[in-house]
Amino acid sequence: MEFDLQPLCFPSDNKRPFVIAGPCSAETEEQVMTTAHQLAEKGCHMFRGGVWKPRTKPGGFEGQGEKALPWMARVKQETGMLTATEVATPHHVELALKYGIDILWIGARTSANPFAVQELADSLKGVDVPVLVKNPVSPDLELWIGALQRIHAAGIRRLGAIHRGFSSVDQKLYRNTPLWHIPIELHRRIPNLPVVCDPSHIGGRRDLIAPLCQQAMDMGFDGLIVESHCNPDEAWSDAKQQVTPDVLDFILDRLVVRDNVEMTESLASMRKQIDDMDDHLMDLLTKRMRVSREIAIYKKEHNMGVVQTARYSEILDKRGAQGSMCGMSASFVRRVYEAIHEESVRQQM
Ligand code: PEP
Ligand code: MN
Repeated sequence: MEFDLQPLCFPSDNKRPFVIAGPCSAETEEQVMTTAHQLAEKGCHMFRGGVWKPRTKPGGFEGQGEKALPWMARVKQETGMLTATEVATPHHVELALKYGIDILWIGARTSANPFAVQELADSLKGVDVPVLVKNPVSPDLELWIGALQRIHAAGIRRLGAIHRGFSSVDQKLYRNTPLWHIPIELHRRIPNLPVVCDPSHIGGRRDLIAPLCQQAMDMGFDGLIVESHCNPDEAWSDAKQQVTPDVLDFILDRLVVRDNVEMTESLASMRKQIDDMDDHLMDLLTKRMRVSREIAIYKKEHNMGVVQTARYSEILDKRGAQGSMCGMSASFVRRVYEAIHEESVRQQM
């Protein structure tokens, strides 16, 4: 399907990628206004604030709802920044538009649900507002494209995607695994669709915001959406990943933005994929060593020796054969497994 799109025309400084910044949640009028003024002073042009918060479990802070919308309107009036918020139901859309929110985004839990996305699309018919669609929580490119198609079919022409990473079973370095090849493939499939990176929800940690912003620049993303809070430690949601406007300014100042980076299989993006896979390998090796230590306890309790020769040869043979079936040399795979086994034995001792 072709996407007939108009440019987002989001404000940014001299050809830099645009940045949408602001707290995860609009908590109080004071928090919203303080954060917004600090961001505006640092030259930010677009302010995000979550008004309705999708929470994994009931009982968490679910957002202030309509009460927070006049605060967003005040941000726009006092600072001139454009405002953005997440919408998950047609009622949210109606209220956000009523209070003059400039940019709507669809969250990762909503974009995973075609019924919900279709309802949003129906409520957007005849409305001219920019809409950004976050990737669904699961790594399903077709579902993400489907959500974009539904919004596009409703007549939205200023459309963009937000990459916020994907949930995975094992917890590792990132809160949501980036799987960079998915947004890259999205760009290949819909080249005229702007793609924004959300380092806050990918990283889940303050110290990962700067490197993730730089990775996004190296891969040619069109913009960033970053969570920023006047007092991150006291934030009512996503406290660990929010940075102060000062820190955000520091991070953005140091970003190296090269000209003409195409968001494709550039060298940088392929290297990122390698880094992703190495993260995976390290993670798996760590888990393997842990199980190995558990086995050591079992062997000790059952008076067994550490090295079980038959088991060891079985692993070497099986993996060597598997390696050659996958296009690697069997001897290489055997050497890798000999090294892993050596460390494993060391850990068992
Ligand atoms: C958010 O932007 O605060 C948010 C809830 O993000 P996501 O939908 O990506 O989890
Ligand atoms: Mn958040």
